[in-house]
Amino acid sequence: LEPLDIGAIREEFPILEREFDGQQVVYLDNAATTQTPDPVVDAMSDYYRRYNSNVHRGIHHLSQEASIAYEEAHDRVAEFIGAEGREEVIFTKNTTEAENLVAYSWGLAELEPGDRVVLTEMEHHASLVTWQQIAHQTGADVEYIRVDERGRLDMDHARELIDDDAAVVSAVHVSNTLGTVNPVAELTALADEHDALSVIDGAQAVPNRPVDVGEIDADFYAFSGHKMAGPTGIGVLYGKQELLEEMDPYLYGGGMIRKVTFDDSTWGELPWKFEPGTPPIAEAVGLAAAVDWLEEIGMERIQAHEEELARYAYEQLDAEGDVEIYGPEPGPDRGGLVSFNVEGVHAHDLASIMNDHTVAVRAGDHCTQPLHDKLGVPASTRASFYVYNTREEIDKLVAALDDARQLFA
Ligand code: PMP
Repeated sequence: LEPLDIGAIREEFPILEREFDGQQVVYLDNAATTQTPDPVVDAMSDYYRRYNSNVHRGIHHLSQEASIAYEEAHDRVAEFIGAEGREEVIFTKNTTEAENLVAYSWGLAELEPGDRVVLTEMEHHASLVTWQQIAHQTGADVEYIRVDERGRLDMDHARELIDDDAAVVSAVHVSNTLGTVNPVAELTALADEHDALSVIDGAQAVPNRPVDVGEIDADFYAFSGHKMAGPTGIGVLYGKQELLEEMDPYLYGGGMIRKVTFDDSTWGELPWKFEPGTPPIAEAVGLAAAVDWLEEIGMERIQAHEEELARYAYEQLDAEGDVEIYGPEPGPDRGGLVSFNVEGVHAHDLASIMNDHTVAVRAGDHCTQPLHDKLGVPASTRASFYVYNTREEIDKLVAALDDARQLFA
């Protein structure tokens, strides 16, 4: 693989030039949100300047242009993830809403007392809380596939839990806390064997590695635009067409109907049936531009770059001696992020010292509270990398550890 021209890439992100107290920002909070390159901002700006209008195929020119751009954004995303067509790509607000769509539309209708919802101990709250609450409402039971001491799923436990009582298997593709890349194709195959629905949270996968939903063969697959160089306010739910055809929507309103009378309504075509009201039009245009931008660089190269940075960060932090790193050793089954704690220093204090050095990292439970309970810590500090990050930036992160020790340890 040809190495990335990081200098040229960084030029498309003016935000990375920003300084605070005379120090250039080191942005290592990409698992929360990635930065947005100029071509994506330009595409959205062009939309607002030239063809801003509501969609749903209005009669006038502007609405027609906006409708075409909005519809084609679905095609672009479908192509990017290997879906069969726009019918399988529903735009939501984010990954969280995509998870809720499946849980409300499918879960509320299909789950019964005694059914088992199988999650993993490393689920993000987006799927954990959602399925937990839908299980409470339907009388289903929730069980969690164990995470072992190396931060990997215990697949023997997975095979125990995914039996004929399993109705849903919902798993995170890449953990936003441990960095673990889970064997999602194996999980969806197990679910399929036992007629359970499979749902994969791809929020930390689609931005960082090639993802083909056909290969993974999940029934549903969710991700967010703002973590893949795209805008906030848009996420994607991929779903198999035959399942989406059978499901009823859980949000109702305009733009999603076929026929409405005072007594009843019928639903429109996919994917519009699940996209009521005025959708995120500018954001869809921006997401399509982000997909173009990512593909031009190449997802394999992005993955290789992040893997290299994660290995470097892991090794540098590990060499410090007083840093506990969570999740698997560096390698192909670790994504581009490292969560850790420094002995004697609270994660929030550490992040605040990092901020004094204008190093942006995240501290907290990263929306995986039960996993942190299991790790026996209330919080961790997370450095997460993207295509524009460099080794020098990781050196700044490591250098800042000394200050934290002096002040707190
Ligand atoms: N799942 C994972 C694995 C995530 O990392 C995140 C974002 N932290 C989410 C779900 C939720 O994404 P959003 O906030 O865009 O809905």
